[in-house]
Amino acid sequence: MAQEEAGKSNAGTKLVIRNIGTLLSGDLQRPILDADTVVAKDGRIAAIGREKELDTESASRVIDANGMTVSPGLIDSHVHPVAGDWTPRQNQIGWIDSCLHGGVTTMISAGEVHMPGRPKDVLGVKAMAITAQRAFAALRPSGVKVLAGAPVIEHGMEEEDFRTLAEAGVRLLGEVGLGSVKDGPTARQMVAWARKHGIQSTIHTGGPSIPGSSLIDKDVVMAADADVIGHINGGHTALPDVQIRALCEESPRAMEIVHNGNERAALITLRTAKELKQLHRVILGTDAPAGSGVQPLGILRVIAALSSVGELPAEIAFCFATGNTARMRNLDGGLIEAGRAADFVFLDAPQHSAGKTALESVRLGDLPGIGMVIIDGEVKSERSRNTPPATRLPKVVK
Ligand SMILES: [Zn+2]
Repeated sequence: MAQEEAGKSNAGTKLVIRNIGTLLSGDLQRPILDADTVVAKDGRIAAIGREKELDTESASRVIDANGMTVSPGLIDSHVHPVAGDWTPRQNQIGWIDSCLHGGVTTMISAGEVHMPGRPKDVLGVKAMAITAQRAFAALRPSGVKVLAGAPVIEHGMEEEDFRTLAEAGVRLLGEVGLGSVKDGPTARQMVAWARKHGIQSTIHTGGPSIPGSSLIDKDVVMAADADVIGHINGGHTALPDVQIRALCEESPRAMEIVHNGNERAALITLRTAKELKQLHRVILGTDAPAGSGVQPLGILRVIAALSSVGELPAEIAFCFATGNTARMRNLDGGLIEAGRAADFVFLDAPQHSAGKTALESVRLGDLPGIGMVIIDGEVKSERSRNTPPATRLPKVVK
């Protein structure tokens, strides 16, 4: 498992991916692109189109996609990292590397809440958030981009604390409700201070996740007005259907569906978002590591569940874990667009699926096989050790 220093230069590199069977954009408006080739320079997407129309000369790396489906790298909007690629929650090492093999190229912390002895005093909360932000910015486990440093709000925090955090580079709040602040008015004030200073927030929604956490119901979620309605389908215990529906209808914020939640509540959220024509608000996470463990294929599993049982075109479900999250969280990846980070996942129908392509198999509820993952224009993993084997695999030509 490579522990990579972030920020190492890929200047001067040129990557050509050709012979793509289906190119997913991550964009709900046009989820499938009419293109078979992508060119990336210096780790960023430079051109998209038909091979004969593009300048593919003098590439430093050429990959033949062999007719596979290529998606933007998947984004897990809800993880709980602690230190590098170790999680004390289930005492696992290498969980982020395992998720890379599930197609995840970016993870967003919803709080480093599993830190043993997590400080609860204001100075300690700030110190830990800045430490986590620094540590994951400096070191990418297996190349995965982990956006961390997400303090959980505690009573006693003042606007000045959020200003200090923002100045130090903190851009996220961990799940509101996992600390001592559990009431609407206090949460609302702190979320507003965070937002004023450019810090995005997430709220825990539903019943307690583990002993020590507590119920956050619809009224507290509405009052707090965090940017993300974290695990709207519960983590794991969901709110009553009527409250989930009300959150979809009355709040304009992101509806986050997680793997470690209630599957039936996930479908209710999806159905409501469809009815409201607000699919752009749906984003996906695993909420791992958690009591139910780490799911290296968690994002793919949610995509397959929403597409198959939720009767949604698979290419739309992929947008939930790519472009929707990127836009909502102002990330530079997540979409196949010139200028975006060159993060890609190569997918195909798993061997012996009734579906003939990645999208067909997902629509039927089968997890696709992953053949390669690329981050910032560099190959980070080849045939996944975790998905069922893909029917086809890409070839490294050069
Ligand atoms: Zn939670």
